[in-house]
Amino acid sequence: MYDYFKKTALDEAYYQERIKGRLPAEIVDAHAHFNLPEHIKNITAEEVAQDWALESGMLMPYEDAQAYVSALLPDTAVKFICLPWPLRNADTAGNNQYIDSIVTTHGERGLFTNRPEYSVEYIEQAFQTGHFSGFKPYPYMASSVKGADVSIFDFMPREQFALADRLNTAVLMHLPRAGRLPAEGNIREIREIINNYPNVRLVIAHFGRCFCHEFFEEALDLLGDDIHRVYFDTAAVINPKVYRLTLDHLDYKRILFGTDMPIMLWHGRREWINRSYVNLCREEFSWNRHQYPAEEEGYTFIIYEQLNSLLGALDGDKTMAQAIFHDNALEVYRAK
Ligand SMILES: [Zn+2]
Repeated sequence: MYDYFKKTALDEAYYQERIKGRLPAEIVDAHAHFNLPEHIKNITAEEVAQDWALESGMLMPYEDAQAYVSALLPDTAVKFICLPWPLRNADTAGNNQYIDSIVTTHGERGLFTNRPEYSVEYIEQAFQTGHFSGFKPYPYMASSVKGADVSIFDFMPREQFALADRLNTAVLMHLPRAGRLPAEGNIREIREIINNYPNVRLVIAHFGRCFCHEFFEEALDLLGDDIHRVYFDTAAVINPKVYRLTLDHLDYKRILFGTDMPIMLWHGRREWINRSYVNLCREEFSWNRHQYPAEEEGYTFIIYEQLNSLLGALDGDKTMAQAIFHDNALEVYRAK
């Protein structure tokens, strides 16, 4: 476990006041990354230094995840959709195998990371002999720059989409490009995927990296009715405006709750200014600018802030909560 992860009396008070009793008894975290130390031993310090998310957390054995959720949500049974670490220098084959072992040992569901250089034959064989519920490609496989201007098909070639279509499975897609979901190339390629590979259940991670509501507003215009042909997960989205907007415009059956653990285990808040966001954080990370040092003692877990934003937008609607926190993930990521 990360030793920076500590639950304080303030966290407990926040939990009692704003979270407890508002979640379904059983939930699914549809976006959490699992691995063992040996799967990331070739990740360089430079790679980690390039990305605040990696510095916050890039190791999560299954037992650690259990410890995190029993501290965070002691009254809720949490199941997972388990993702590998889709990094270029990670041991992808070993990490995929580890995900498969979590599925068979602990009854979770998991995704298979496909690399662009993998042959369709290799992927199909590994996918079919394992117990996976979908694919987890990642832009890092095409470029180590976050939000790089690459095509989706650079890191998941069309023949791999054709395989996913034939397997009638899910693809959890982290979008590339600085323009996020409304980027012209992303809109065009999302349409190509849903039109050409209709059996793929396409899940777009982090609401298409729309951590600020302006991007999602633009995407609503650009995608029109096609926005109802994809799914979205909520991983690492904290912004109450994004939750309000998405719940107002999307079918709630298309939204899957996810945390992005172990990245989001720190205490803090987010600020959204001019289409960008700042992580405000108590723990010592190299990216922490400590803008408001006097306020840091008052920060709670950023995952609690996320839950509070989503629960606030749901406004006590139990049907929607049951779907978003539980049922939708099991419908999209089907057990084999
Ligand atoms: Zn993630």
